[in-house]
Amino acid sequence: MNYENIFQEIYRELQSVKDEGHVADYIPELARVNPDQFGVFLATINGEKYAFGDAEKRFSIQSIAKVFSFVLAYSRVKSDIWERMDLEPAGTPFNSLVQLEYDKGIPRNPFVNSGAIVVCDILVSELASPMDAILSFIHELTPHHSIRFNPRVAQSEKETGFRNYALVNLMKSFHNIHNDINQVMDLYFQLCSIEMSCRELAEAFLFLANNGVVPYSGQQILSPSRTKRTNALMQTCGFYDEAGQFTFKVGLPGKSGVGGGIVAVHPERYSIAVWSPRLNKKGNSHKGMLFLEEFTTKTKLSIF
Ligand code: GLN
Repeated sequence: MNYENIFQEIYRELQSVKDEGHVADYIPELARVNPDQFGVFLATINGEKYAFGDAEKRFSIQSIAKVFSFVLAYSRVKSDIWERMDLEPAGTPFNSLVQLEYDKGIPRNPFVNSGAIVVCDILVSELASPMDAILSFIHELTPHHSIRFNPRVAQSEKETGFRNYALVNLMKSFHNIHNDINQVMDLYFQLCSIEMSCRELAEAFLFLANNGVVPYSGQQILSPSRTKRTNALMQTCGFYDEAGQFTFKVGLPGKSGVGGGIVAVHPERYSIAVWSPRLNKKGNSHKGMLFLEEFTTKTKLSIF
């Protein structure tokens, strides 16, 4: 299939759609991003690659990084993750406090902020240099070796991260955070400020389309069963209170971030990353979602 022609066709169609969204200005450093950038990259498990627009430009991957920290904990760390968090869709915004009080400090899943913060706490307990471990882990997944976090974005989020500090304090009061709060939050903010391009993201997620094996190196990251479970979590929890919409309209497991990126995976076939910084009201890329909806409709490639 000639995906590049399809990308161009959809991009042309979307030109007429008004992009009403806004960049994530609650993190001041992200408000500086040019909102009109747009990129797509698709990588197949057979080594085919298709790019469009700003596919090589790095951006702040934000919550997409929660998949890397979760898989690192799930694959390499002994402690039982599921005693510390649940695996149910939240149906609430990514930074909501409401459910957490009700559930006595147990996050609903690893992809809401509270769940990702508990994953960071687990990594702080188990690893000597958790941020270095996360970056080396990402470098095992991709052939690119210069992926970094942006300290300015991490600092900007730390200075304005009142809600995230509220989440961690609430969980600490329920004894679900074992380490020093500042150490855990520094890791969380660094994690969210990792910068990657659509190409790097699509390539890094390809093991999830390939039964847990990195296609270019042959390395088994997760067992097929755990890969299936990770994809199931992305399907049910990857888009917060818009997970139902994404499943309904796109029909692929995926993960979004407030930097405007979305990665989606078609098991046994491909992974695709889209970047468009303006977000809808739920904090997901407005045009990115529309693009993927058109993509799975035109190609008739979805898991449903
Ligand atoms: N760093 C962001 C936050 O904690 C991540 C949110 C997101 O990308 N959905 O608010």
